[in-house]
Amino acid sequence: MQKHTLPKLAYSFDALEPYMDAKTIDIHYGKHHQTYCDKLNLALEKHPVLFDKKIEELLKDLSSVPSDIQTAVRNFGGGFVNHNFFWETMCPASSSGKCSGDLLKAIVCDFGSFSEFQKIFNEKSLALFGSGWVWLVSDFKSKKLEIIPTKDQDSPLSIGKKPILVIDLWEHAYYLKYQNRRVEFIENWWNIVNWNRVEKNYSDKQ
Ligand code: MN
Repeated sequence: MQKHTLPKLAYSFDALEPYMDAKTIDIHYGKHHQTYCDKLNLALEKHPVLFDKKIEELLKDLSSVPSDIQTAVRNFGGGFVNHNFFWETMCPASSSGKCSGDLLKAIVCDFGSFSEFQKIFNEKSLALFGSGWVWLVSDFKSKKLEIIPTKDQDSPLSIGKKPILVIDLWEHAYYLKYQNRRVEFIENWWNIVNWNRVEKNYSDKQ
């Protein structure tokens, strides 16, 4: 039995400055993300056999999770995995790169152009009410791309969608630096998207 632990970040807390500040990452990763991980472990202790399963697999089939911990797995398992994914899909602005390859082709095909995709993504990010996330996802079978919001810590995996790119729109993701200026946070976040990784998320088989 192996408890879940936070993956180490591939960059230092100040590496995403000035777009995402060190203090925000310190608290977001060290406190918020850690708490999701701890509470997930606490819930799974009631059914330790589930420690052997990938948490992504549990989220893909929440109805298979014992009912007494289903909500905890949805909330804390979702929070754990969503944040793992969020950190992975960012990098220092100097290595952010550009959207290219098969992903760019699919974006142009499904949204018309990259700028149109960005416009819709920004609009949905601004329009999200309350706490949640906005995702670029693809359908596991058809590979068709979609931009969708999820509430709280819900994962696209639970509705059969494959995560490609995400922005965390809980206030804890930006409030220290941006306060209520979510629009500014969203605009700046584009500078630290790890396009290499995002492209890989799209192209990977599973
Ligand atoms: Mn968060």
